[in-house]
Amino acid sequence: MKFGVLLLAAVAAMPVTADRLVRIHDVEPLAYQLLVADGYDVASSNAIKGWVDVYMPDDATDMAAIYSGRYEVLPREWGELLAENGGNAGAYYSTEENSAFWATLAETHADLVDTPVSIGTSVQGRDIMMIRMSSGTGPSFKPAIFFTALTHAREPGGNAALIDFADWLATNYNSDTMAAWILDNTQIYFVPIVNPDSYLLNCNPAGGNIRKNQGSPSGVDLNRNYPYQWGYDDQGSSPSPSSETYRGPSAGSEPETQTVMTFIDSIDPVAGIHYHTYGGYLLRPYAYNNSDTPDEATYAAWSYEMTRYNGYSSGQCGEVLGYNANGDAVDWTYWSGGGHPRCMALTVECGESGFWANQNNPSGLAAMEEECRYMNIWLCMVAPGFVGIGDASGTVPPVAVSAGPVTPNPASVQASMTVSMPHEGVVTVRVLDLAGRIVFEQPSVSVREGDNMVSVPVDGLPTGVYSLRVTCAGGEAGGRFTVVR
Ligand SMILES: [Zn+2]
Repeated sequence: MKFGVLLLAAVAAMPVTADRLVRIHDVEPLAYQLLVADGYDVASSNAIKGWVDVYMPDDATDMAAIYSGRYEVLPREWGELLAENGGNAGAYYSTEENSAFWATLAETHADLVDTPVSIGTSVQGRDIMMIRMSSGTGPSFKPAIFFTALTHAREPGGNAALIDFADWLATNYNSDTMAAWILDNTQIYFVPIVNPDSYLLNCNPAGGNIRKNQGSPSGVDLNRNYPYQWGYDDQGSSPSPSSETYRGPSAGSEPETQTVMTFIDSIDPVAGIHYHTYGGYLLRPYAYNNSDTPDEATYAAWSYEMTRYNGYSSGQCGEVLGYNANGDAVDWTYWSGGGHPRCMALTVECGESGFWANQNNPSGLAAMEEECRYMNIWLCMVAPGFVGIGDASGTVPPVAVSAGPVTPNPASVQASMTVSMPHEGVVTVRVLDLAGRIVFEQPSVSVREGDNMVSVPVDGLPTGVYSLRVTCAGGEAGGRFTVVR
């Protein structure tokens, strides 16, 4: 215990200086592992550009030389919320400003924005608010798309991106065909502050870089607490409570995590973005082991389009950031194995220059919001028409699969699809509804040469238009059919 006593004394004697962000360039993988093992708080990293931003004590930033010969101490405003902002978030939106914004938006555009509601509470009992947007016109079934922010409480840039997008949708509904189409054909759900306890602490009083929630003893990293592959390994996710990436005592242990999970399960979204900062990335699953999901081709195509104008780096966590992370929200949201259908979930790390970089720079913040707005619009326009797994647009199927018409069509009791195959193989048959949900799946049907009939029962399906997809060794074919009752 002697060490503990000494440590406490050292902390008490330490002058009140904030840590500084140090950008270390050309960090070799071993040096990176050493940085993490030494307990440094890694703010962001870019494996593609080759830098890592780390918090280091003000008077010991030269420690960075241990890890690389090239580093720079970033300007102070990149590391902390400035005292000049009087205990508020500067150009960002504080807790109070969030409450005011969403309430006003709902009052001003009552036809498009529902009154904010609480979907759960934090460790300290604060409400986690949700706002739904949709117009009163359009089809009776509208697919859901979600946006969350401030899972990590020191990342207000994502919150600003949500506020900007909600404001854009409401303000432009009557003048912009895309805003009108989105609200007429989808339901957009916003959870602007997932981690309200720590965000309040970060904004009041001035200065705060708390990442984790307020769970005992020293907070849990909510983005390592989700049950899917929780604690898979200790890479980017720590079993140690003092770590900034502490994953919690058990999978899904935190009330904030549970709130988001219950919420996602209740809306069955087709797509969505968990917003973080910073680095300028669009990340797709799987983060826990850097492997491709079955929807990799679709993810790659979407990511290419979504980052066309903002130049964000896209890929999986490991390839873009340089480390894997288990128990994160996007892996769980994409595919939890239950609770909700597969969902095209993404993580955005918006901005490129720090957690609070734009606090005194409203035009810089506006530019960052615009970078995100295009991605948000694109996702909302495309996701509702997404017809599912392995939709390999732009790639050449390695095995040619062709499909005849679904007969009978319209179908009432039984439909079968004719599949002609060049050689034998195991095929997967899926039926998706127009929102891209899998409503029927037969994972492995052995097809022999000349035996090319695949039968799909449709007796459980209600009236509607469906998409049938057949895949074999990376090749894909499909067709649409109608069920009439
Ligand atoms: Zn984050």
